Amino acid sequence: MKKIIILGSTGSIGTQTIEVVKTHPDKFKVEMLTANSSADLLIEQAKAVNSKYVVIANKSYYEYVRAGLFGTGITVLSGSTAINDLVASIDADLVVTAMVGFAGLIPTLKAIESRKNIALANKETLVVAGDLVTEAARKHSVQIIPVDSEHSAIFQCLQGENPTSVEKIVLTASGGPFRNYSLEQLKHVTPENALKHPNWSMGAKITIDSATMMNKGLEVIEARWLFDLRPDQIDVVIHPQSIIHSLVQFSDGSIKAQMGLPDMRLPIQYAMAYPNRLPNTFERYKFDPIHSLTFEKPDTQKFPCLKIAYEALIKKGNHACIVNAANEIAVAAFLQKKIGFTQIPEIILQTVEKIAKIDHPTLQDYIETDVESRVVATSLIEKT
Ligand code: NDP
Ligand code: MG
Repeated sequence: MKKIIILGSTGSIGTQTIEVVKTHPDKFKVEMLTANSSADLLIEQAKAVNSKYVVIANKSYYEYVRAGLFGTGITVLSGSTAINDLVASIDADLVVTAMVGFAGLIPTLKAIESRKNIALANKETLVVAGDLVTEAARKHSVQIIPVDSEHSAIFQCLQGENPTSVEKIVLTASGGPFRNYSLEQLKHVTPENALKHPNWSMGAKITIDSATMMNKGLEVIEARWLFDLRPDQIDVVIHPQSIIHSLVQFSDGSIKAQMGLPDMRLPIQYAMAYPNRLPNTFERYKFDPIHSLTFEKPDTQKFPCLKIAYEALIKKGNHACIVNAANEIAVAAFLQKKIGFTQIPEIILQTVEKIAKIDHPTLQDYIETDVESRVVATSLIEKT
């Protein structure tokens, strides 16, 4: 029985993690659930899995959640400090980090410092402070097991292999809903169009990141930290069917790939059960009828976000932290129809120019860079 904490249980990854728990009640016991403001769903989940603790980050929902769980024996707390304190103090084997954005960084560090293994969905944590997070994991002998489907694929391909025999990895990308759009067409994309991903159903932020291809850029940085690779060892290929989830090429030229239907419950369950595999009845990929699996080169003219992320990775320091913060602000502004789709990379690039670079940032430097980048990106958006 693994004791688990789910940070961000009410989101796309969080709800699918709960599904996995419900499929294997003899394998997982939920100790703690958190949400930002989805109070009703949090109450329902806490009752369904009999979580010991729940924390609602937005304090204005505290009384509502407490009333909703009155008489259940479930302890209710609120605020982000409570999330950080509890994640560090309660007993658990694994923390599933399914919060979105920079907000996941501190609780993930708290979990690592208290020697809890991580099933990592919150890629922004590694994008912002991959050096500090992986160093903390090494220091506290904590395992970071990827949930992101591409990184899970690579992690699975590496089982039984010597990490030094990796020549390069290839991250696959669906290309998103606008793969075949012209630059002119991209200017007129609306949030409604962008929120319709062809293969995956996900939270709003990552769905827009997939449409701009920033998601793949963030994943390149995530892979650099998870697998300790140089930027030139990480390639991206467009694979519109999303059946091959990523590939590893070894020093002898051999390539291993991991395949399956695009269903996040698979990498979530793999990370939760690792090193075991658990049987399930999720739909299987079938070779009848035969499908074509195709590959294309990504177009960084049309999708500059991928290039912006590669450059941030090469430049190191607080660069990726700036890119991440500006992207979070720009994506939110696009969803609120304050800026157009093609302005997202423009806002990011302009923010990068205005923020001071730090070669060896501390955690405090990352926190300050995040705040400053958000202020700058917001003011740039107001001027558009
Ligand atoms: P969602 O937006 O669906 O869910 C985010 C979760 O985090 C919700 O539970 C939300 O609570 C909570 N949350 C948001 N902001 C805060 C905050 N400030 N403090 C505390 N809790 C907060 O996101 P996804 O599930 O799509 O993505 C989660 C992470 O996983 C992201 O980093 C994403 O990149 C990554 N990922 C997601 C994939 C997917 O298929 N969805 C695939 C691979 C990676 P509330 O509901 O109350 O708002
Ligand atoms: Mg992914």
